[in-house]
Amino acid sequence: MTDITQALAGIVGEAYVSNHPEEAYFYARDPGLMPPHAPDYVVVPKVVEEIQEIVSLANREKIPVVPMGAGLALTGLVIPLKGGIVIDMKRMTRILKVNETGRHAIVEGGTSQGLLKSYLEKHHPRLRHSIPDSPATATIAANVMIHGQGRLTQQYGFNSDMITGLEVVLASGQVSRIGSCALSPDWFSKGAPLPDLTGLFLGWFGATGIITKIGVKLYPKKKLRDVEIFLTDRADLVPDMIYELTHTEMVEDINVFAQPKPMIFKDNHHITLFFTGDTDEELEFKRKTIWHSLDRFIRNKDGGFMGVPPVMKPTLLDMPQRSVSRFADVTKGGGFEYSGPIIMVDKYPACAQKILELAEKYDLGYSGMARIIGRSHAMMYGFAFTFNRADPDMMERTRKALHEVSVFALEAGGIFWKATVDEQRMAMEKMDPVTLGLMKMIKEQMDPNGIMNPGNWEVTEV
Ligand SMILES: Cc1cc2nc3c(=O)[nH]c(=O)nc-3n(C[C@H](O)[C@H](O)[C@H](O)COP(=O)(O)OP(=O)(O)OC[C@H]3O[C@@H](n4cnc5c(N)ncnc54)[C@H](O)[C@@H]3O)c2cc1C
Repeated sequence: MTDITQALAGIVGEAYVSNHPEEAYFYARDPGLMPPHAPDYVVVPKVVEEIQEIVSLANREKIPVVPMGAGLALTGLVIPLKGGIVIDMKRMTRILKVNETGRHAIVEGGTSQGLLKSYLEKHHPRLRHSIPDSPATATIAANVMIHGQGRLTQQYGFNSDMITGLEVVLASGQVSRIGSCALSPDWFSKGAPLPDLTGLFLGWFGATGIITKIGVKLYPKKKLRDVEIFLTDRADLVPDMIYELTHTEMVEDINVFAQPKPMIFKDNHHITLFFTGDTDEELEFKRKTIWHSLDRFIRNKDGGFMGVPPVMKPTLLDMPQRSVSRFADVTKGGGFEYSGPIIMVDKYPACAQKILELAEKYDLGYSGMARIIGRSHAMMYGFAFTFNRADPDMMERTRKALHEVSVFALEAGGIFWKATVDEQRMAMEKMDPVTLGLMKMIKEQMDPNGIMNPGNWEVTEV
């Protein structure tokens, strides 16, 4: 055992630290396309004090630390680019509190989406949180860290807008409480009316701190939920359609997908509309309001509701929607990755055109999927390509296609979501230099030894 392994074992116990190559092999990669890089150590702490001790040790010895949830962001954000210690959060999964009337939950930094969902179903059936379509093992803290989006995003914004506070271990090893919990036992606000310090952490990919607790807003869970699909072959009209739909304020979530397989989906854009109600009357009222909002497009023969077959409904209504993961096997060989810029909804036609062009140019299977954020304030447009992991040429073509997506997205005024290191560099090159200088100042103050997920958001020049 090396000295560091021994010191880590002294903190978390021997069973929860490893420097073995077979473990390093797995922690060296994520399911996406980024090249692997092995950590020197992996630790799986159980309590915040252990994280404090690990980070203090790393800071003293100037060893990188990389926090990891489920490792499903796909863009290499948990790959320890400079080696060091991967802190796997999987044992910190306690649901500490659910405040039913204040509609929020406080959970530990490794709690998965699936765990909170099933806990609420069992103990608080009238409440729900905004669930993304990532596999249920994905963690709540990491999803908020990368400004993820979920089922309630059309109504309430990014999942990171739906939090009520943070507990964070800083690079110094100190613990900081952010939001109302900084001075109150109650976690009801992430900032207001104080200065909102969550911005020092969210979007930084763990490069400024490790979230050990998070307050998550909960929302009314209606008894009934249904889905409708509006079909159109007019990509140019999708933004107007979305405008009308969001104007009804009746839709829970709006996703628009376009893909060539299975054949039934080819050549159309599928505006998928989820809505909820406590009674059949409420559900029917919403359904009709949604239908009527698109009357003029139906009259002009620019689209129509397709009537979702009952066999298709359980798949669509599943949360998370497991069929999304199955896309990885459309091309046999089990790989997919997507670049998902956050971009204005009026760019939908250009995005839809771009994904077609790239799929043809690089001969790749694809799926384009937009999730509407807020009342049409923006969208995440996922350019997803599927590849065979055993085919290096296909993986290279996918890399090239995704790079072209990044260039396109930036030119079209978009901002990379869960940006790869290359995309982070591209974003910083384009960023207002004063803002970039501010980022540099924050990073240097918060992580003077550069140990926190190094390689990410590294501002080298201003
Ligand atoms: C099939 C599929 C569907 C998906 N659908 C969606 C979707 O609908 N919506 C969506 O938002 N995303 C989606 N994703 C992307 C991604 O899986 C999710 O955003 C997921 O929530 C990421 O969580 P994770 O635990 O896997 O994060 P990780 O990949 O483990 O971590 C992401 C980042 O957060 C940092 N981090 C992890 N834990 C902490 C912590 N405690 N403190 C500080 N930093 C931390 C990591 O260092 C890394 O930089 C999807 C992915 C797949 C594979």
